Amino acid sequence: MSVSPQKAVVFDLGKVLLDFDYSILVHRMAPRSRMSEAELNQLLNQAPLLLRYETGALSTPEFFDEVQSASGFNGSIEEFTAFFADIFTPIEPMIALHAQLRSRGVPTYIFSNTNDIAIVHIRRTFAFFADFDGYVLSYEHSAMKPDAPLYAVVEGITGLREADLLYIDDRQENITAGVARGWNAILHQEPATTEAAMRATGLLG
Ligand SMILES: [Mg+2]
Repeated sequence: MSVSPQKAVVFDLGKVLLDFDYSILVHRMAPRSRMSEAELNQLLNQAPLLLRYETGALSTPEFFDEVQSASGFNGSIEEFTAFFADIFTPIEPMIALHAQLRSRGVPTYIFSNTNDIAIVHIRRTFAFFADFDGYVLSYEHSAMKPDAPLYAVVEGITGLREADLLYIDDRQENITAGVARGWNAILHQEPATTEAAMRATGLLG
């Protein structure tokens, strides 16, 4: 068995452990709104409004109020959160890879730009999500990847720095910011290549 220098693995959530598809949300909202699906996608997906929500600048009711006034969506906040929650599907090979790490006693952490509606739903729906040592969620820290303060939160919560951390994320700018701090990193593209890269570290035995 090779000895790995890494002492914990830090997982991005979206497009690494869970896929998401905003078109599901906008397709359901459009008939109840005065906006087209394209306009709703512009409003909700990676737009300034979502950024404010995911940095914790807006509470869930405040976010919903802004969505409603911009789009004319005529449903309740409960309907909206149900629509929003349905955008996620598990990426099973990556969830299995995480389970392998856990079975070997490797500490693991979630590190995500996300929001309260998503996390409440994910906690309720996906059992694997309970099995991490800690969670660094953008909206709880008023900061987002790739900004340095959120990476400092990871170092604080794990008590680890630099090459003690192995970080997996699908976005190059997020990986670059981790590598700049001396973290080891895998740019996630396909489960098979990420698993091979993980195996090369020795963490899987
Ligand atoms: Mg991601």
